[in-house]
Amino acid sequence: MGSVVNPELMETLEEFGLADAAACFNCGNCTAVCSLSSEETPFPRKVIRYLQLGMNDRLIQSPEPWLCYYCGDCSETCPRQANPGEVMMGLRRYLTSAYDWTGISRLFYTSKVFEVMSILVIAALVGLGFYFFHGPMLTDRVALNVFAPNRVIEILDLVMLAVLSFLLLSNAWRLFKAVMGDPGQYPDMDISDRQQPLNRSILGVPLKLYLSEAKEFVVQFLTQKRFANCGTASQRKQWVVHLLIMTGYSTVFILVVVGIRWFQRDEFYPIWHPVRLLGYYATFAILYGTTYAIMGRLNKSKTVYQNSHSTDWVFLILLWLTTFSGILIHATRWLEMPSATYYIYVIHLMIAVPMLVLEVPFAKWTHQLYRPLVLYLMKVRQRALQSNQ
Ligand code: SF4
Ligand code: SF4
Repeated sequence: MGSVVNPELMETLEEFGLADAAACFNCGNCTAVCSLSSEETPFPRKVIRYLQLGMNDRLIQSPEPWLCYYCGDCSETCPRQANPGEVMMGLRRYLTSAYDWTGISRLFYTSKVFEVMSILVIAALVGLGFYFFHGPMLTDRVALNVFAPNRVIEILDLVMLAVLSFLLLSNAWRLFKAVMGDPGQYPDMDISDRQQPLNRSILGVPLKLYLSEAKEFVVQFLTQKRFANCGTASQRKQWVVHLLIMTGYSTVFILVVVGIRWFQRDEFYPIWHPVRLLGYYATFAILYGTTYAIMGRLNKSKTVYQNSHSTDWVFLILLWLTTFSGILIHATRWLEMPSATYYIYVIHLMIAVPMLVLEVPFAKWTHQLYRPLVLYLMKVRQRALQSNQ
């Protein structure tokens, strides 16, 4: 298959935080040491070669950047200090923007002015919304659901969920088409087989293959167990930290976006109540995970923390501040401080909403969907290529 060469590809990638790929002389050491590389999907040397040759379309079709969990083993052993682990990270940022049809992801990753301004503008809109439309501020008791009725917040949450899901899933569909490649590469079915409903073809692959491998997506999404196979015991701690952030973030997302009527209550639940316990778990998991990652990046304590793109900081800081302000709301409610609770609640949402709106469909959060999706699609593709169904 021919490939259009883009001689500026390396420079383009530099805007996404890629620094050292030009130093690579293709020895293949990185691919040999990578515990996740396989015969079917070898990396990282192959995609670095595409990058050096300016083969943009090959890069966009490559599943490999999503199969790397950035343990840093390859960067530590590269004889040319080409930092292949960081190259894979830069490629994930680039691919996220390549799949995003709106162009917002590209702006977010490549322009610090846009990054800061987009956060400030969304935060200001949230603040103005509360300034003009908040409910009565009762001061004889904490009445958060009078100040910001949870049924109104629920409607706004569901609108936001629908918009963010549409953006994320439409971008994921573009990834899907790219990594599954040309439908003509899969064995064709005969006409009688094609008439079976479960053999209906999606990008050349029968529907039943997508269904039979669906468990892979669910398991990888929930456990990220492939991360545990990546590198040494110390790097496996990264898996735990990553899992804490991911599960904490997902739990709080579910609680505040779809479960707000049970989560935002004026009375306190008993300590054993599942909603309260889930809230405590999410708070602990995110606070521990983000503090660990922030300290690691400040101290550059591991290879994976040596290079920090501005969007890495933005994600961690917004998530940390969202969690911390959530703890403050809990404290001021408990201390029966009504005015402080209302003001901190607004500040909390002025941090949380920009983080969700920007991170879920356009930036860091996307890999939470893209990684398990690509792992799943690779299984489907492998089975489709092997079978004649
Ligand atoms: S990135 Fe380093 S280890 Fe990998 S092929 Fe290039 S020079 Fe070799
Ligand atoms: S960072 Fe780890 S998982 Fe990623 S390519 Fe390098 S060795 Fe493989």
